[in-house]
Amino acid sequence: MSAAAAEWLAPSTLDAALALRAERVDATVLAGGTFLGILVNQGFVEPTALLSLGQVAELRALELAGGGELRIGAMVTHRTLERDPRVRERWPALAHAFSLVASPRVRNQATVGGVLADADYASDPPAMLAALEARAVLRSARGEREVAIDDLILGYYETCIAPDELLVEVRVPPAPAAAVYRKFRSRSSEDRPCVAVAAALRGGALRVVVGAVADTPQHFPDVCALGAAHAAEIGAAYAERIAPIDDARGSAAYRRRVTAVEVRRAIEALA
Ligand SMILES: Cc1cc2nc3c(=O)[nH]c(=O)nc-3n(C[C@H](O)[C@H](O)[C@H](O)COP(=O)(O)OP(=O)(O)OC[C@H]3O[C@@H](n4cnc5c(N)ncnc54)[C@H](O)[C@@H]3O)c2cc1C
Repeated sequence: MSAAAAEWLAPSTLDAALALRAERVDATVLAGGTFLGILVNQGFVEPTALLSLGQVAELRALELAGGGELRIGAMVTHRTLERDPRVRERWPALAHAFSLVASPRVRNQATVGGVLADADYASDPPAMLAALEARAVLRSARGEREVAIDDLILGYYETCIAPDELLVEVRVPPAPAAAVYRKFRSRSSEDRPCVAVAAALRGGALRVVVGAVADTPQHFPDVCALGAAHAAEIGAAYAERIAPIDDARGSAAYRRRVTAVEVRRAIEALA
């Protein structure tokens, strides 16, 4: 069966979407479709039913909550986030990370919920969101839970989202003192990262997360405890600890060398 023959479920409220998610565990959730479309076109998945979130207005909210927390609805597009004046002013590294994804055409369609739920190891936003200590809100008809990005992404294309849950929102704590995102591409300017480094300083505490080098974003709190004055040592320690993969964007040995340099540069840029 092709996607065109799949049953089309298009709720217009979040409650209706959650009810359908519980009743129709056979249905595949559809957000912007930029990831799912490729899987369908290449024959990797053949959905019999599609649960489209496109008409659920509640999931498109982007707001500043009390205390300065940023709340990003799951259906907010990359483009909306990268261009939002509040995000650009308070979380410029976050806006920058989203602005580096693919092309404007993809970013106009791709959603914040979609990029986290697909759990692709070579995506840009997860490392940045993890460095900012963001939390994903997972909701079902049973209730709601909040999980850190580290707990959300379990491995290659694998998350802790239960079959009856939807990722409904991402909550980003108030802006840190400084944050930076560095995307190292090895093939073309529109490619996914070979090595992605996100770093943040909050209350003097350093947090460095490296993406695209292993199945999940990599973070070593004991190494970060050395402090931002030790950029080169931290870079070398991350390079040693990451257990990088080999793929078309670079060998494991290459990724280690790039990680040492990019982590050092990210920490230096924080200063
Ligand atoms: C040409 C191209 C280049 C790209 N380059 C980059 C790049 O440089 N950097 C980068 O980071 N990414 C890149 N991407 C990936 C892109 O960011 C993702 O495809 C996109 O973010 C997925 O979002 P979507 O809304 O389109 O998700 P969809 O394709 O609609 O869904 C993705 C997956 O998540 C599930 N899902 C979606 N939303 C929810 C939800 N709210 N709750 C539960 N499950 C959900 C779906 O069932 C599906 O399995 C690229 C993609 C393309 C097509």
